[in-house]
Amino acid sequence: MGKQEDFVLRALEERDVRFVRLWFTDVLGFLKSVAVAPAELEQAFSEGIGFDGSSIEGFARVYESDMLAKPDPSTFQILPWRSGDGPSTARMFCDISMPDGSPSYADPRYVLKRTLSTAADKGFTFYTHPEIEFYLFKDVPASGAEPIPVDRSGYFDHTAQSRGADFRREAITMLEAMGISVEFSHHEGGPGQQEIDLRYADALTTADNIMTFRTVVREVALTQGIWASFMPKPFTDQPGSGMHTHVSLFEGDNNAFFEAGAEYQLSKTGRGFIAGILKHASEISCVTNQWVNSYKRMLWGAEAPSYVCWGHNNRSAMIRVPMYKPLKGQSTRVELRTLDAACNPYLAYAVVLAAGMKGIEEGYELPREAEDDVWSLSERERKSLGIDPLPKSLHDAIEIAEDSELLAETLGEHVFDFFLRNKRAEWDDYRGQVSAYERDRMLPVI
Ligand code: GLN
Ligand code: MG
Ligand code: MG
Ligand code: MG
Repeated sequence: MGKQEDFVLRALEERDVRFVRLWFTDVLGFLKSVAVAPAELEQAFSEGIGFDGSSIEGFARVYESDMLAKPDPSTFQILPWRSGDGPSTARMFCDISMPDGSPSYADPRYVLKRTLSTAADKGFTFYTHPEIEFYLFKDVPASGAEPIPVDRSGYFDHTAQSRGADFRREAITMLEAMGISVEFSHHEGGPGQQEIDLRYADALTTADNIMTFRTVVREVALTQGIWASFMPKPFTDQPGSGMHTHVSLFEGDNNAFFEAGAEYQLSKTGRGFIAGILKHASEISCVTNQWVNSYKRMLWGAEAPSYVCWGHNNRSAMIRVPMYKPLKGQSTRVELRTLDAACNPYLAYAVVLAAGMKGIEEGYELPREAEDDVWSLSERERKSLGIDPLPKSLHDAIEIAEDSELLAETLGEHVFDFFLRNKRAEWDDYRGQVSAYERDRMLPVI
């Protein structure tokens, strides 16, 4: 038993923990949890806890369903919303392994770990800082009905006793109690829409934190009698919810994106990384934006990208090189604006990193930056500037993904196959739906 495991076992006694929740994530990004008694933990650390993987989305076929969840002691936390005065509940994220102890190729956390370790072999650590947007609604959603936002405020609004401010304060207090540092928070552009930005951390920690974040936000909403949702585009006429992510690579203590005196202080490594993400953006789109609904967010502007391009100070660009701080070396980073918070963060960060690394390794040239608001250009102007559209629907994204070597390599054959099969089924299901849009336009006139 290692030091960290000992620490956890001691903490269980000191904090009177009665339940330990073992958390992991399915291929679509939903959190799974199994609670074990503290007495089981020693065995969980040494051998793992067995479960039937065949019932978890994307995990296994029935004939190979036995899997083991092994808790990662470095992720041990007490759950603040489950721990009043009485006994506590704690949680740890798990790595999933096969009965023979080898890592499960279906585990998204492993997909990210594998990609991070490939980058580490080349000397790089991948850091991410997500800006997570979501809506707060008055009630639990009713089938087919438009949800009602908790307020009518807009971007950066601050009103006394506003629902959003109270909510953010409580959610952030809880996140901080779980060791997740929050950098900024504010009201976003849509009514009831909020944003909370997490402090940058290595991508595995960030992905774990995003899973915790979604859970905390939804739990806090429930305790306040409201409903939180990370749906990418809940309203036709209001902005969607994205998860812009600032990314950087470090070599040891040095930011590998930084080069003093270079244009935007961006090193060759930084430029190659951006070029890689741009070149593979459409291929990885079905992972960074995995739902039918994701593509509705990226259609009309509202500061969500629709085209493959980069720029500084240009919020229509897919990748933005932030200029608002006189960038000191260590904080050099680029903001990727495609991601939405309904993605699987492990898979999304894995494919982004793989695309960026490809750009560095193959020495991709960074295309010219987009200086204009690309939404206001005509189709012809964009074409002449070489600015391609991102996939316009999940269907387009799947078609492109099917031929992507980068995606197959990064996700591994099992996740790649499951993922595309699942997404095709989603698209087929969706395209058969007769919607209110069609009924409203047709029934009255024909
Ligand atoms: N809501 C926008 C999006 O979906 C972002 C708005 C902003 O952060 N400026 O990407
Ligand atoms: Mg922001
Ligand atoms: Mg925002
Ligand atoms: Mg942003």
